[in-house]
Amino acid sequence: MAKAASNEDPSTVDAAGIAKALGTDLDRGLAAAEAARRLAEDGPNEIRAAPRAAAWRRLAAHFRDPLIYLLLAAILIATAAWLLEGRVGWPVDAIVIAVIVVLNAVLGFVQEARAENAVAALGRLTAVTSSVIRDGHAMRIPSAQLVLGDLLVLGEGDAVGADARLVQVSTLRVQEASLTGESEAVLKDTATLGTLSALADKVNMVFKGTAVAQGTARAVVTATGADTEMGAIAEMLEATREQPTPLQREVGQIGRMLGTAVVVIALIVVATILLVQDVRGTRDITTVLLLGVSLAVAAVPEGLPAILSVVLAMGVQRMARRNAIVKRLSSVETLGSASVIASDKTGTLTRSEMTIERVMTASGSTRATGIGYAPHGRIEHQGDELSAGPVFTENIVVLGGGSLASNAELRKTAEGVWEIQGDPTEAAFLVAEQKLGTAERRKRRFLRVQEIPFTSERKMMSSIELDHEHDDQPVVMSKGAPDVLLQWCNRVRVGDDVIALDDAIRHRILADVNTLSDAALRTLSVAYRPLEPGEQAQDGEALEHDLIFVGTVGIIDPPREEAGLAIREAQRAGIRVIMITGDHPRTAARIAADLGIVAPGTPALTGLDLDALDEPAFMDAVRATSVYARVAPQHKLRIVDALQADGNVVAMTGDGINDAPALKAADIGIAMGRTGTEVTKEAARMILADDNFATIVQAVREGRAIFDNIRKSLRYLLSSNMGEVLTVFLGVVLAGVIGLTDPTGAVVLPLLATQILWINLLTDSGPALAMGVDPETDDVMARPPRGPNERAIDSRMWMNVAGVGAVMAMATLLTLDMYLPGGLIAGTHDLDNARTAAFTVLVFAQLFNSFNARSATTSAFRGVFSNKWLWCAIGFSVVLQVAVVHVPFLNLAFGTAPLALDQWLSCVAMASIVLWFSELWKITGRFISGQGAGRKAVPAPTAVD
Ligand code: ATP
Repeated sequence: MAKAASNEDPSTVDAAGIAKALGTDLDRGLAAAEAARRLAEDGPNEIRAAPRAAAWRRLAAHFRDPLIYLLLAAILIATAAWLLEGRVGWPVDAIVIAVIVVLNAVLGFVQEARAENAVAALGRLTAVTSSVIRDGHAMRIPSAQLVLGDLLVLGEGDAVGADARLVQVSTLRVQEASLTGESEAVLKDTATLGTLSALADKVNMVFKGTAVAQGTARAVVTATGADTEMGAIAEMLEATREQPTPLQREVGQIGRMLGTAVVVIALIVVATILLVQDVRGTRDITTVLLLGVSLAVAAVPEGLPAILSVVLAMGVQRMARRNAIVKRLSSVETLGSASVIASDKTGTLTRSEMTIERVMTASGSTRATGIGYAPHGRIEHQGDELSAGPVFTENIVVLGGGSLASNAELRKTAEGVWEIQGDPTEAAFLVAEQKLGTAERRKRRFLRVQEIPFTSERKMMSSIELDHEHDDQPVVMSKGAPDVLLQWCNRVRVGDDVIALDDAIRHRILADVNTLSDAALRTLSVAYRPLEPGEQAQDGEALEHDLIFVGTVGIIDPPREEAGLAIREAQRAGIRVIMITGDHPRTAARIAADLGIVAPGTPALTGLDLDALDEPAFMDAVRATSVYARVAPQHKLRIVDALQADGNVVAMTGDGINDAPALKAADIGIAMGRTGTEVTKEAARMILADDNFATIVQAVREGRAIFDNIRKSLRYLLSSNMGEVLTVFLGVVLAGVIGLTDPTGAVVLPLLATQILWINLLTDSGPALAMGVDPETDDVMARPPRGPNERAIDSRMWMNVAGVGAVMAMATLLTLDMYLPGGLIAGTHDLDNARTAAFTVLVFAQLFNSFNARSATTSAFRGVFSNKWLWCAIGFSVVLQVAVVHVPFLNLAFGTAPLALDQWLSCVAMASIVLWFSELWKITGRFISGQGAGRKAVPAPTAVD
């Protein structure tokens, strides 16, 4: 952060004075090395949010958790028991629990750090940028790198990156509501102010956090970071923290509910043991208490929130790699439930590679297939069908006029390749003219003195040119949407003559436009007028009247191939695709039909049509219409509102500054990464780095898959926890039935406290996380969008969780029974051995369950090898389990005893029951839903890879 050193307010110093004070060259800007030096000295141009807490504090925060307090209490109990019993050997239980507490905290810390890093990386991807001139070259840099004295270049839709003194303006209007509350955009100029004025009156300054609504300018940065006007008020503003997403809130609620339930269950278990068994001495009491605590800790899915944020964050990173940059984690969920995608046409559904195909003028129509450029701005083929005569003259005027009333540039690179810069629509005129060979003469003949800019509302633009061949006569050159431009014309050019534009000609021109539009061509017309003496002093827009119409071009802008496929995919997924464009209704209707958005022949609804509708009629129209043309940004806002009022979750694209309100209103506002303005990008929730419609559908797909994966982790964790709770509870209650007794009369438990904590540590982390990166198992795009109020865990999932948990507990207890003498099945092993076998069955059952949990409907065997992370996690868990059973010091720590090979085999077989049960469950479920759906075509779940 920094501020101009001078005591004088920059608004009261003239441009040259400011440049001198800050060492800036008003043509070449700062030297890059000097800018780097200033950045190092003054720090980045950021209004500091609260600094990130130190790592040890964040780690310590993981110990401030009720469950950890419980475990700490358990350590105390175990240590006390060891002390009371005369300090024999080591306080093994206390040590094991302490290690587990630390491991838990470290795991949580690592996961949290991962999620935070992913969010921070996104922040860098979506950083606001500014244009500056350094070393005489224009460049775009992250606004955080702006330094004092930087020469800012501002254009429509730019977010002003720092406070700066204007040194050059062209009809600059700045939206300063965020700073001053003034809702109208303020007209700026460069004149030095005589006295110090209030912020709102400093018209020769621009301020960080405001937005350029219109025009262009250059300005010298006079304050950065906290020294800016925005920085001064920033202390009052809350730093924006990532809010929990709806899913995170739901999971939080479930966690709290389960926490309470589990503590109650743990109390019941402890009470039951105390009632049913003969508890004697401190050893028994501590064993029972430790079991109660461990059960409570193990059964609460405390790892869930961390897993959720990691899964969301990793999903967001994956999306970013595929060009969909999501700004908030919550948008991932919203994307998954999108029911409408409303998209622009130009550049998103089409390729934005514009080629003039036809030129239609009063004397005839020219097919100009030779006039064009191929992708990347290279001119590929030569040869045109134009020849001398009135048509030729008219064509020269159409293409020359279009080129003059434009800001694009056509440049030959060092390799001799033509490249375009700027709006492709405008560049199409330059390219066509270049082909005709008339560009050079036109450039020599005219000199631009003023521009009347294009806006999506006006749908036209003009420039005022001095005509050197006619004594510098000023001429207004206009190009724009034919229907709009024609309203300002009263004459028409025919060859070298100019005649009155009567109704018959007007109709013919409009018929020509319809012909072009029906052929999916984008239409633009060109008109001009020599100005009367003195007229030039008038305000720009006032000059656009009594124009002489010259002709219309038809520009081909081919649809993106992948857009058609993506539209079909979206429709299959129950998502309605809507096209909202500023283009001609017939062009829009034809392209929409070509892309499969509507049936051929369906007309588009125009902005004018919409204006004529009252609220109920508007709602009906929005329900029925999927192509809108000649709309202005305010129509987009109304359409979003209507769609949302109808219960839709709306994703909407936009690029211009005036699209920002509609993007804010939409559930997922999508800005164009390439052509979008900075202001739109700020308003959006997602940025399309490649401007491509197909990327939106891909993002929806990812959003759905991420939501599915979270449900998989939930299903897995909850059913596993249920298995643990039921094992201990039923084990205690049914102890007599399964022969769980101790000849010495000591308290016997189906599992030891440390074993339960072990299971928790092993299965809660690896497999649950691996499920978060699971490839799609069900066909995510073959079902309708999730309702906005649909819960992550529905009653069906709860039933499944209870069923799988019960089977897991039964398999575990049956194993216990099998190896113990007495009970239902008489065995011959001792308690430690039988308990180890049961413990192993429970661990393995959870690992088998991780395959079940990957889909609620599809068999676990489909795509069983597709998730390598899951296999790694399982492999790791198996190795650890073998170690805990066979390594002597772990035997001591976890109360285990080595198992024989046949025992291992039967443990795996017993554990696999959970898999077979789940397969049966799914087959039944599929059968029932198949019956329910009757003969309706239900898309079958498809296999993975
Ligand atoms: P979309 O809204 O799908 O991106 P679009 O680019 O056609 O489509 P606008 O930019 O609002 O929408 O343009 C509306 C109309 O204005 C176009 O159909 C065209 O006739 C005219 N137009 C577009 N660009 C220019 C321009 N640079 N100069 C003059 N007229 C233009």
